[in-house]
Parts: sequence; structure tokens; C-alpha cells
Amino acid sequence: MNFEMTLADRLQKLKKSLPAYVTLVAVSKTKPVSDLMEAYKAGHRVFGENKVQEMVGKFHEMPKDIKWHMIGNLQRNKVKYMASFVHLIHGVDSLKLLKEINKQAQKNERVIQCLLQIKIACESTKSGMSSKEAENLLKSDDFKALKNIKITGVMGMASFTEDKIQISKEFKTLKLAFERLKELQKNMGVISMGMSGDYPLAIECGSNMIRVGSLIFGNRQYT
Ligand SMILES: *Cc1c(COP(=O)(O)O)cnc(C)c1O
Repeated sequence: MNFEMTLADRLQKLKKSLPAYVTLVAVSKTKPVSDLMEAYKAGHRVFGENKVQEMVGKFHEMPKDIKWHMIGNLQRNKVKYMASFVHLIHGVDSLKLLKEINKQAQKNERVIQCLLQIKIACESTKSGMSSKEAENLLKSDDFKALKNIKITGVMGMASFTEDKIQISKEFKTLKLAFERLKELQKNMGVISMGMSGDYPLAIECGSNMIRVGSLIFGNRQYT
């Protein structure tokens, strides 16, 4: 990254480079509210976090017109803490989790938008469903009974590798899964794929929602 540029500069430059149909989720995990406010003041309203507690804390401190995206692996017992405000949950990978989201959404008299996470990486550490599992889920009566959730698309994470051919193969797999699932779920529109290191490739392969952290906020420090 270019340290001559301010956070707002990096954000604006990135935004200008994106096609208009691509939604930028600014991934602010581990970053202080002051950094998020810099992005907010530069006009940004879409933020992504991967830990529920952290997102809830930031939600309370930040202005209320922000769209909060939960992008991390989600434990069922944490859904209730964010059900009143979360805008989109990216990493949904089971009917069990969907049922809990539905239950908490109902309590809050809301419909919560979710993306099905599809496993596209060859690494065993990355979670998600197979395309077939997602298809079966969408076809099931259990799923059809859930009235307070809406599946608006799919999400995936490519393998952690420099191999561009491998990464683009995985992105294309997600795009294909999206096309198949859209047959069952006509109003699906979101393909969430691409991060700081691979978002241009992801867009080439059909992404319309990218999740970018370090390119905007700088490298993360984990203590
Ligand atoms: C952290 C994270 C990102 C952003 O990663 P960067 O490489 O910093 O852009 C995107 N998606 C998920 C699911 C993440 O956990």
C-alpha cells in the first residue's frame, strides 16, 4: 500500500477503479472506530466485520446509517446480539444457522438478508457448503418455512495462493454455483467474492460484491 496516501485517498481511489455495479464492503475488523469514521466521513457506508461482539460495539459508537455486514464464521448463539441491525450475513453454511437467524429476525420483526457460503477453495480450513448441498437446502421444506430470512446470493473465499489460475478457477466455480442456485431462488443477485489481493480477478470472474480490508485500512495487527 501507498503510505503517502490517507485512508480516505485510498478508499476514493479504490472506489473510482470499480465498476458501478460492484458493492465495496470495507472490512474494518480489528481497526479502531477512528479509522472507520475516516472512511465514513469520506462518504462510505458499508462496513464488514468478522466478530459479532466487535461489530456490536462499533454499531453503538458509529452513526446509524451504516450497513453492517457480518463476514465471518458465525456461531449460532451470537446471532441474537446483531439481529436488530445487521444488514447482510455473508457466511451462512447450514440450515441450522439459518433457522436461528430466522428466529432472531422474527423476534425483531425483520427479514434478514443472507448469503450462502459455498466452499470453493481446496483448503480444508475454509468453510462452506458444496453447490449440491446449497441446492438441497433451497429445495427443502424446512427452508421454505423460514419467512424472516432472505437468501440474496452467494459468498466464497478462494485459496490462499499466488496461483492466479487456481484462484480464477475457484471464482468461476462460485459464479457457476450462483447461476445454478438462481434457478431455484429467482431473486438472488449477489456474488460476494474478492479481497484486497484478488478483487480485480474476482470482478473479472463475475463478482459484484468485494470485501476489502487491508488495502483501505492498512495491514492488521493481531495481538
Ligand atoms: C478479513 C477478511 C476480508 C478482507 O481481507 P483483506 O485481505 O484485508 O482485504 C475479506 N473477507 C473475509 C471473509 C475476511 O475475513
